[in-house]
Amino acid sequence: MTYTLSKLPYALDALEPHISKKTLEYHYGKHHQAYVNNLNNLVAGTKFENVNLETIAKEAEGGIFNNGAQVWNHTFYFNSFSPEGAKEPSGKLANAINRQFGSFSAFRDEFSKAAGTLFGSGWAWLVKNPDGNLNILQESNAGNPLRKGLTPLLTCDVWEHAYYLDYQNRRPDYIQAFWSVLDWNIISGRF
Ligand code: MN
Repeated sequence: MTYTLSKLPYALDALEPHISKKTLEYHYGKHHQAYVNNLNNLVAGTKFENVNLETIAKEAEGGIFNNGAQVWNHTFYFNSFSPEGAKEPSGKLANAINRQFGSFSAFRDEFSKAAGTLFGSGWAWLVKNPDGNLNILQESNAGNPLRKGLTPLLTCDVWEHAYYLDYQNRRPDYIQAFWSVLDWNIISGRF
């Protein structure tokens, strides 16, 4: 199997001014593409040559895990956005957020704090546990909740390459912008 870069479901400039065309040209066009290319080079001749990305995220180690999980994480991240998406969760996810965090606003504060305080490179995640409860996680580097048997619902990439061109060192400003481009119809459908 040759892994390929999945197509973005919107134009490169569709998320402006929150996430610029320039950021997507690099983040999607260069970084995401590089993880795909690295993965294809690394899996050749290994037992991971013909498996899906979920299997790599769950079972691989070292470079194959790092690049494979980064491919999966970025596809998931980029497929959470839309220029005119729903601004709040709905249905069962909305109920679960309200039950567990008190309100959507309180959840946003808690998730933003997790994304803002994650040291170094990594991903903040909202996940569904096997018992149906929600949890906010911080994962370093290519960390992926599938490895822990959890269901990913939402992620925020806090690697500097996700925001440096638009916000330089101001990660909190990027996190604020991140909320503006999420499509909660998509995220609610993952619950
Ligand atoms: Mn990234």
